[in-house]
Amino acid sequence: MTAASAFAAGGAASALTEARSARMARVREALASAGLDALLCSLGADLPWLTGYEAMPLERPTVLVLPVDADATLLVPRLEAPRVREDGALFSLRPWSDGEDAVAIVAGLVGRARHLAVSDRTWSSLLLGLQGAMSGATWSPSSTVVGPLRALKDESEIAALAAAAAAADRVAAALLSGEIALLGRSEADVSAELGARLVAEGHAKVNFAIVGSGPNAASPHHEPGDRLIGRGETVVCDFGGTLHLGEDAGYCSDITRTVVTGEPGSEVRELYEVLERAQAAAVATVRPGIACEDVDRAGRSIIDAAGYRDHFVHRIGHGIGIEEHEDPYMVEGNTALVEAGHAFSVEPGIYVSGRFGARVEDIVVATGTGVRPLNRADHALHVVEA
Ligand code: ZN
Ligand code: ZN
Ligand code: ZN
Repeated sequence: MTAASAFAAGGAASALTEARSARMARVREALASAGLDALLCSLGADLPWLTGYEAMPLERPTVLVLPVDADATLLVPRLEAPRVREDGALFSLRPWSDGEDAVAIVAGLVGRARHLAVSDRTWSSLLLGLQGAMSGATWSPSSTVVGPLRALKDESEIAALAAAAAAADRVAAALLSGEIALLGRSEADVSAELGARLVAEGHAKVNFAIVGSGPNAASPHHEPGDRLIGRGETVVCDFGGTLHLGEDAGYCSDITRTVVTGEPGSEVRELYEVLERAQAAAVATVRPGIACEDVDRAGRSIIDAAGYRDHFVHRIGHGIGIEEHEDPYMVEGNTALVEAGHAFSVEPGIYVSGRFGARVEDIVVATGTGVRPLNRADHALHVVEA
């Protein structure tokens, strides 16, 4: 390593520390104004967002205790401790050994704090133990406090989401161009290739790769199986993974493109034209100050007007970050306002049960004045005869 690159690496590390301590400060502020005394982070994305450390989903408890008015402590199983990148500016590390009572240690760290937020993904076995050990405490889900904070992406997070989206776009381009063969292959086989390409393009892991062909295209979360893709079918491909930019926690990609294996008939052509228009209208409506539910309505009203009301069976979008699905949700009833820094999907679908379906999905970020789509792969209906 040259002196210059050593300096750059050190600079990147302290930038991360800065970003994380700013996040902790905002969490403490939000806790205090919600009348909460401490946040307990176990499994889920709150922990890597705050510390860079992602706990394995195992039975031995990992808990970050973040009091409003005292230093944070990260309690980890001793055998996991070597995986933690310690950062004294953020938290002190407290490894615990098999045979010790982790719940009692957490209760000791919590001390006299009584109003506690706990991460949503905490296993109930741990939470029930903590509740037994702290009988006077009140408990709230951390999403009510941390969710809105995590929804607002800072610059480094947007850079990571953009890198993940660009990598997914390169896989999508291979799908649209026919470089990824479809005809005569099983959905599972194509799914595996999409996943392998996500990894080849820089993702650390594949989170899902849905391939729904023919009638399966009408099932939005279809599990790819041994069905062989035939000629003249719509094929919905929805895939994403987690990509690490530098040393930060991983951020997700999520893209859907629908292709046809042969010249489409007028029915599919019309359906897709409506879908494309709905997706573009919903994206165009994104700007700070618009209600989340209005992004959904902007796309849905076009689909409704074209007569497909009963065929668009899910919300139009979800927030994305360290988790594939997180705040904010673009759904009827969510009157919260879009803010600059919100990153989310816009993904209308039209599904004709037993026959065919289509979906188009991009990740977008709300900017100070409007919207920045992170996915750039073409939206036009591509015919793939390979
Ligand atoms: Zn989905
Ligand atoms: Zn998706
Ligand atoms: Zn999605």
